[in-house]
Amino acid sequence: MGSIEKIIKEITHQNPKADVELIKRAWNVAENAHKGQKRASGDLYITHPLEAAYTLSQMYLDEATIAAALLHDVVDDTPTTIEDIEQEFGKEIAFLVNGVTKLGKIKYRGVERQIENLRKMFLAMAEDIRVVLIKLADRLHNMKTLEHLPERKRERIALETLEVYAPIASRLGIGQIARTLQDLSFPVVFPEEYAWLAEHVKEEYQEREQYLKRIEPTIRKELKKEEIVPIEINHRAKGYYSLYQKLLKRDMEFSRIHDLIAMRIIVKDIKECYGTLGVIHKKWRPLPGLIRDYISLPKPNGYQSLHTTVFCENGKITEFQIRTPEMHKAAEFGIAAHWAYSEGGKPDKGVVMQNPRLAWVDQLKNWQKEVTGREEFLESLKIDFFKHRIFVLTPKGEVLDLPADATPVDFAYQIHTEIGNQATGAKVNGKMVSLDSSLQNGDVVEILIQKNKKPSEKWLGYVKTSGARAKIKQSLRRKKIGFAPEHREARLKIYARDRVGLVRDISAVISGSDINILNITSDAKSKDAPVIINVSVQIKDRTKLSRLVTKIKNVPSVEEIEHQFVG
Ligand code: MN
Repeated sequence: MGSIEKIIKEITHQNPKADVELIKRAWNVAENAHKGQKRASGDLYITHPLEAAYTLSQMYLDEATIAAALLHDVVDDTPTTIEDIEQEFGKEIAFLVNGVTKLGKIKYRGVERQIENLRKMFLAMAEDIRVVLIKLADRLHNMKTLEHLPERKRERIALETLEVYAPIASRLGIGQIARTLQDLSFPVVFPEEYAWLAEHVKEEYQEREQYLKRIEPTIRKELKKEEIVPIEINHRAKGYYSLYQKLLKRDMEFSRIHDLIAMRIIVKDIKECYGTLGVIHKKWRPLPGLIRDYISLPKPNGYQSLHTTVFCENGKITEFQIRTPEMHKAAEFGIAAHWAYSEGGKPDKGVVMQNPRLAWVDQLKNWQKEVTGREEFLESLKIDFFKHRIFVLTPKGEVLDLPADATPVDFAYQIHTEIGNQATGAKVNGKMVSLDSSLQNGDVVEILIQKNKKPSEKWLGYVKTSGARAKIKQSLRRKKIGFAPEHREARLKIYARDRVGLVRDISAVISGSDINILNITSDAKSKDAPVIINVSVQIKDRTKLSRLVTKIKNVPSVEEIEHQFVG
């Protein structure tokens, strides 16, 4: 249980010069604001922000983050406004509290295929890693007290935790929180699977735990011969949820899971890590293909350790994980540990020194590259790798990823070409807006349509996505072609060796030449015979037609083309 004294003790222990006054002021304001409020559990409401703040203090976070955690529910649940917070605590803390409040509005409604966009939207709206961390600490305590809520609410929150919060914690390398969130959600979301697992795993766990205890003295003795004195030897049991995930991949056979409980050896530096690995391999034969050097090649989220699986005493297959204390801390606190390390005057600079750009930074950058096509270095806590993107919702809760300043027209075409073509107006967050207005992160957008309506040429003046632009042009062209008597119909008979994507490539060449396809069919007689693709197009003259034929001849696997005008 957290308390304000414990929080202060934690932060002054890490940094004797910490701004304790700030924490106390935040505590007073929060306690006053929540006075008389209770949690569903019957506890005083203030226990909740207190627990969140305590979690963050244990993760080496700065005073502003801890103060904001204490205040995180004040704006939503009490008469205190964000302006009050800003006046009392300044812009930074008000920004953090406001961010947490905004994120509270993102809800997972079970639309599976957009889940990755929802995670991105979460990060984009947070704007600052610390907002994400407060939200994770907030969710962690809510999950710990979930039993007091009605069943349906429990299920919704647990599912959201499993699909949104735990994966974000995991990507940020915060193993401790990711694991706890998973294991708290798992029994709620998958009660039967959990019951099955709990029943089958208990003995297995106990047995392996005892076994590891028995071999510990042997390990110490072997290490001593090489003058390695481990800082700590312990074992970690795999979380139920990740065990379940792994069992699904291994036909539910426990015998095929070697890291149900892994032996963990913490030694003082990297040299000793490899030394320890050597000692273990000398004593016990490793299973081929299961040696993992995550020190040289960290996981994408920054995780570092050596893993090996050996035929241990009595032939028992056993996994060992070897790491330094810095790596251990980074594995538990991830991005937060990295942040703490980068602050001057804090202990444990080791990881940063060895690995100045933790891999998660690269991963975040890759996301950024993916969505913006630009490479920018992420230097601060500011989440700006999505600043050129926005994430907006359909009324059903699907999340669409669009460029910044995208309009309802872009949105409409992203949903479906016909929704775009027939769009007549849009509602954003329930209010009518014009089709050229700019959408914002988190907007709920609804498109109004009219049957047989055609797109307007004006739209080309403001759409932001190339997809919408191309589809508008295509539709306008089709409209014009209908009134273009100088066009004639030509037929092409294309002989080609069949392959995946052939028809798609051919139609792309034709559309890319601004030529309207009237019809396209393909028929393959047998597997080895060439495929024949029949295309009819609307085309102006012979020159255009022969140019098109030349272009199609360049499409891979096309062998011959017959062409003629019809009528
Ligand atoms: Mn809260």
